Amino acid sequence: MIRTRFAPSPTGFLHVGGIRTALFAYLVAKQANGQFVLRFEDTDKKREVPGSAEHLIASLKSLGIDYDEGPDKPGEYGPYIQSERIDTYKQWAQKLIDSGCAYADPYTAEEIQAFRDKSQAAKRAFLFREYRPENPPEWDGSQPLRFKAEPKSYSYHDEIFGDVTTNAEVVDDFILYKSDGYPTYNFAHIVDDAEMHISHVIRGQEFISSMPNYLALYEALGLELPVFAHMPHILNEQGNKKLGKRDGAKDVLDYIRDGYLPEALVSFIATMGWNDGTEQEVFTKQELIDKFSLSRVQKSGARFDEKRLLWVNGHFIRELSLEELYGRVEFFWPEAAKKADEAYKKQVLALAQDRLKTLKDLPGLTSYFFEEPTRNEELISGNKQLAKLSTDEIHGLLEAAHDALSQSEWTPEAIQDALNKLLETTGQKPGILFSLIRIVTTWAAFSPQLNDTLALLGKDKTLSRLQSF
Ligand code: GLU
Repeated sequence: MIRTRFAPSPTGFLHVGGIRTALFAYLVAKQANGQFVLRFEDTDKKREVPGSAEHLIASLKSLGIDYDEGPDKPGEYGPYIQSERIDTYKQWAQKLIDSGCAYADPYTAEEIQAFRDKSQAAKRAFLFREYRPENPPEWDGSQPLRFKAEPKSYSYHDEIFGDVTTNAEVVDDFILYKSDGYPTYNFAHIVDDAEMHISHVIRGQEFISSMPNYLALYEALGLELPVFAHMPHILNEQGNKKLGKRDGAKDVLDYIRDGYLPEALVSFIATMGWNDGTEQEVFTKQELIDKFSLSRVQKSGARFDEKRLLWVNGHFIRELSLEELYGRVEFFWPEAAKKADEAYKKQVLALAQDRLKTLKDLPGLTSYFFEEPTRNEELISGNKQLAKLSTDEIHGLLEAAHDALSQSEWTPEAIQDALNKLLETTGQKPGILFSLIRIVTTWAAFSPQLNDTLALLGKDKTLSRLQSF
């Protein structure tokens, strides 16, 4: 039975890196008809951020990364919050004490610092096991509990990084239990993964360096190793450093608020560092479930390219049926559209659909259908060709357009005919004439095709806007 988990610490929001780890774990479980588990790792109380547990759940739900068991979805192996599992860790810690694999650390912070200084002075890496107390006190929970490590080399297989052999020297007496009564991540996650029957541990590559410690602990506890897959970092757009908040690593819920579709985010995130071996660039969730494989995740860091996200989003917007898109844009209409009727809004949306890169583009692309636009001279002065025209020339062209259109039938085809004739009678290029008409009737930076726009805008509005310049 394949069981994977996503085990975030509730210390902040989820950005694309965290989501990618969750998504891959979800895909591995779903393609095998297995289970995906959500577990909160909240034993580092100092780092906890109030509200972030709810935020993490909302983020996963917003993308449809549904877990089978989790803090708010009880399953057979709960609770799914580490701070509620303290008794379990205590029992496992006792096993280690009983087998001589763990001991109470009697030292004060100052004493440990003195050991460090001593190692440093001798130009050696500090290893706690070199200062192990000869007669440790009985563990009463007030002292840290340490793992008694044997320096030994381990070999393991990582689904992404391949076969790895660790260096014996790096295994040290790491802390299992802190003096605040909480276990460390290092200890608790191994207990939980075992108790929750997790078959695949999929997590960030920052945990690779601790693998020697984990392997020593699996061995001491007599546990079978799960499958390991460490996810390479996500890099900034230039690909020269880890993606940070400053490079746009934003909260995934902010992307939703900014008009990105969940299915676009899922496809984009899955293809950061993974492909199916073909040229396919966008995937539905079902396709990902069918095609995903850890063995095709690249070892090198994946670049975060927000322009590609925008393109993927536009693709998924165009793929939606009008009805579906209409349901998604409810909160994105311009204020003035609130009073408009549904049929008209759908016609507007049908025109705008091809040009929407995010749902948030909707007001900019459509508000002139619902209210008189505000004049923005810059659209003319900033247009190289139009800026060359004198005011008289502009008036002349608009008047000619007014006359020609006032005699036209009001269908997109008839309007296009009238516009084409106008090109001949005025001797202008479309880049000048059509841009001018488009700007004066919409005052928008972008709009759908001109004849369609005018057809939907209506004859009266079109003519009066042509005259109002
Ligand atoms: N709690 C760890 C973190 O948030 C998760 C590591 C893991 O998946 O095991 O980084």
